[in-house]
Amino acid sequence: MQFDTLGLSPRLINALNEQGITDPTPIQTQAIPHAMAGRDVMGLAQTGSGKTAAFGLPMLDALMKNGRKAEPKTPRALILAPTRELARQIHDTLYAFAQGSHLKMALITGGVGFTPQIERMARGVAILVATPGRLVDLLDRRAVDLSKTEFLVLDEADQMLDLGFIHSLRRIATLLPKARQTMLFSATMPKQMEEIASAFLTDPVRVQVNPPGQAVAKIDQWLHYVAKAAKTDLLIELLDKHRDELAIVFGRTKHGSDKLARQLEAAGFAVAAIHGNKSQGQRDRAIAAFREGEVRVLVATDVAARGIDIPGIRHVYNYELPNVPENYVHRIGRTARAGADGTAVAFCAPDEMGELRDIEKAMKARIPVASGAPWQVSPDQATTRPGGRPAGKPRQGQPGQGRQGQGPGRQASNPLRRAAQPASAPAGASAGAQKPRRPASPRRGGGKPRAA
Ligand code: AMP
Repeated sequence: MQFDTLGLSPRLINALNEQGITDPTPIQTQAIPHAMAGRDVMGLAQTGSGKTAAFGLPMLDALMKNGRKAEPKTPRALILAPTRELARQIHDTLYAFAQGSHLKMALITGGVGFTPQIERMARGVAILVATPGRLVDLLDRRAVDLSKTEFLVLDEADQMLDLGFIHSLRRIATLLPKARQTMLFSATMPKQMEEIASAFLTDPVRVQVNPPGQAVAKIDQWLHYVAKAAKTDLLIELLDKHRDELAIVFGRTKHGSDKLARQLEAAGFAVAAIHGNKSQGQRDRAIAAFREGEVRVLVATDVAARGIDIPGIRHVYNYELPNVPENYVHRIGRTARAGADGTAVAFCAPDEMGELRDIEKAMKARIPVASGAPWQVSPDQATTRPGGRPAGKPRQGQPGQGRQGQGPGRQASNPLRRAAQPASAPAGASAGAQKPRRPASPRRGGGKPRAA
């Protein structure tokens, strides 16, 4: 199927062709006809599936056909995204699609001054891409008026909930006109999404390309059981095998990410770190340098990294496992973008057995083991392995568990890669791995996300 069969205007099809985009992705094939017909859409799609064009093209098509001039403060289309990086990326993608049209666009995110944004809105904007917090600030200052908004998009809605934007969203919902078209996209469907869906959507068409929470099939996933103290050495060893390729390393804390970035720099890697404590300028510069390949390793926390779409990212390292299981899928979705291949390597220390279990449960699949064996964590948090070996000394030379590559030989078959429906992944997916015992990690319980 090609885009011209979806009813999009020739102008948009040309813009797509200029970017080498000719065939719609599955989410685009499913969502665009409904959106073109004016229906509300609820899209369940994994990261990298082409969601931005799925909601952006029908919206641009409608706005271009109706050539109304942009009025001060009153965007005709509002797109909400959880992070500054994602908002910028959506803005830039739509800007490229809308090249040469009369449509004026603005990006409103935190981390920068209010005045230019207020002035920008006053000059008239047709399409506003915003993060919810800053949008509410501008609404409070009466710099934005949503009473004439015809199109609303909530992108990565699950992360907006994770980041605590529910109050901002509730507030925004009350300010929008009832007669509008709304599209909601999310990679997962947590319970609270029902409230969001019923507040924002009217009789939506549901489209779904993969069961929520499951990873892109083209990503080779591997797991190393490795003690906390041995993680940096292992990371350096693995990064060293592909110095010329882009890799993103996820840590949990801002401080830890900075420290790791310094260690990698000392080991001779071109590194940058991004997290919530960095200024917007620093974040933008780090992403730009990474995109250009001047920086090969980006150390990031979840909050700063969700929106990153850089086709060249070949490797994702979960240096520390996320405590929100869905974030594992988001993190590894930074690789294998737009049809490319990618590798996702996770490190699991004894106190992360709980997180690992939750991730595998959410994915309904085991991550194949590249080295080490499941930690046996006793209720008093003893960090010994089966056989009483001390933590941090992974068993060497086990069949199929060598560290020659990132996994047990690149040619070995990886069940997660093969399995389109990981729910049916064989029990022995993690070759040689024993069933992890139920851990007693003190970090679980509360479920409160750590600072990013
Ligand atoms: P998204 O899921 O919107 O972040 O898109 C992921 C990547 O896929 C982006 O780099 C897009 O440029 C790319 N992309 C979107 N639609 C298509 C398509 N139909 N064919 C090829 N690449 C696409």
